[in-house]
Amino acid sequence: MLNRLVIVGGGTAGWMTASYFKAAFGDRIDITLVESGNVGTVGVGEATFSDIRHFFEFLGLKEKDWMPACNATYKLAVRFENWREKGHSFYHPFEQMRSVNGFPLTDWWLHKGPTDQFDRDCFVMPSVIDAGLSPRHLDGTLIDQPFVEGADEMQGLTMSEHQGKTQFPYAYQFEAALLAKYLTTYAVERGVTHITDDVEKVNLDERGWISGVTTAQHGDIEGDLFVDCTGFRALLLNKALEVPFISYSDTLPNDSAVALQVPQDMKARGILPCTTATAQDAGWIWTIPLMGRIGTGYVYAKDYLSPEEAERTLREFVGPAAADVEANHIRMRIGRSENSWVNNCVAIGLSSGFVEPLESTGIFFIHHAIEQLAKNFPDESWSPVHRQLYNDSIAHVMDGVREFLVLHYVAAKRNDTQYWRDAKTRRIPDGLAERIEMWKTQLPDTETVFPYYHGLPPYSYMCILLGMGGIELKPSPALALSDPGPAEREFAAIRDKTRRLAETLPRAYDYFAAQH
Ligand code: FAD
Repeated sequence: MLNRLVIVGGGTAGWMTASYFKAAFGDRIDITLVESGNVGTVGVGEATFSDIRHFFEFLGLKEKDWMPACNATYKLAVRFENWREKGHSFYHPFEQMRSVNGFPLTDWWLHKGPTDQFDRDCFVMPSVIDAGLSPRHLDGTLIDQPFVEGADEMQGLTMSEHQGKTQFPYAYQFEAALLAKYLTTYAVERGVTHITDDVEKVNLDERGWISGVTTAQHGDIEGDLFVDCTGFRALLLNKALEVPFISYSDTLPNDSAVALQVPQDMKARGILPCTTATAQDAGWIWTIPLMGRIGTGYVYAKDYLSPEEAERTLREFVGPAAADVEANHIRMRIGRSENSWVNNCVAIGLSSGFVEPLESTGIFFIHHAIEQLAKNFPDESWSPVHRQLYNDSIAHVMDGVREFLVLHYVAAKRNDTQYWRDAKTRRIPDGLAERIEMWKTQLPDTETVFPYYHGLPPYSYMCILLGMGGIELKPSPALALSDPGPAEREFAAIRDKTRRLAETLPRAYDYFAAQH
């Protein structure tokens, strides 16, 4: 039986992989995780997709088990500031798009003559976020339908099986280092062997398959399947097996980041339950509120901005609270490995690929890769079919997300610096130009977005197109011949619901404080 899994790397990717496979296969799998005591983790990665809750459910963990230990908060949306013009903001919320008579509510919104705020008119969540509220009441009950219809019956499905069936109303934000620590305990308690040591050599047999890794102090570690979770270094897949890396730099130029962890009195500051992406002259700054601090960082392109300027801008943006905080400068490798599974080596996490964290997709990629590996787990026959299915699905997810991110820059109205002007003329992924042309006449739907599963439903594309404001959109001509009554009632219902929620939901900070 093929059951010896060796994971190299103990960042978020390594520990999520170890925990998941222990939960999935129990004592029938033998897992060793080796992580360096000298090479640190990337030290960022705090905001997630809403699907991450399936990961915790799979591990049998409830929010109250892990959230307080990781200073976690809820994320109800990504808030984009200054992407259209300075002073403008909009949300990309985790909220199912309503449809009326077969047309998305945003289409009706375009038809009735748009206001400046499609998000507040078509969704409930933006107002909940503006007011700094929690999507759960203090007794733990979740805000009601239509957000979670059928969510319980779908436990146990993979993320791709969930897509389009339901939209859970929030994701999580947490301290990445604390999550890795929490998962270390989870995995080790369930039998994962944990070795702290440096892998100095990757040993290949005559076929070019990995027979083991040599560590500085623990000798050779042998296994059947090796998981490369060594971050941007990709020691096993890209270095030892020499698998080519496909750079996305021609379409996504941001290749650098500077990050700060800024202690804050969150009670006084309050928690805006979302991740904010504030556009800057040569990139954008993320702001992630956690219990006890904010995580923030400037993602930029070094062709347009020096690390010193980026750090100065970030410190000015945060203000005096960041004065004594040390900055973490990171070079990002943007793109993906040609194949993430080659021979008996699978790369998961930054070693497999990465795109800038504009839609918080790094941990989503990890979760998706783990689910796909579990689904395609090999036996002694090492069927190439499993590898092929796995590699195709990883490539599709990453290429699809890349396309979605490029859309942000192409659609952003802002053009006040060379960085933003170049974003309109840079090469874009094949097929995106045709899709954008189509979306100008007909809002995105399942038939016209990137054709493979990549985690982003059509309503996400609508939010970006409508919010960024740089591409002119038209309503469906059919709406001119349709009765507008039902749509008007839906807009009114959203206004009503927004008012009711504002009166009944607790402040996000109060909810987490009670949980802690
Ligand atoms: P790392 O954290 O780099 O871990 C690598 C591991 O490999 C370490 O344990 C190290 O010790 C080990 N290692 C390396 N060499 C050796 C060796 N020779 N021997 C033994 N061990 C070794 N994702 C999100 O989902 N949301 C976000 O908001 C988000 N923001 C991000 C912002 C930035 C600027 C960046 C760069 C990434 C962001 N990500 C985000 C991505 C996220 O941080 C990563 O996907 C996640 O942390 C996983 O990293 P990793 O485990 O693959 O690599």
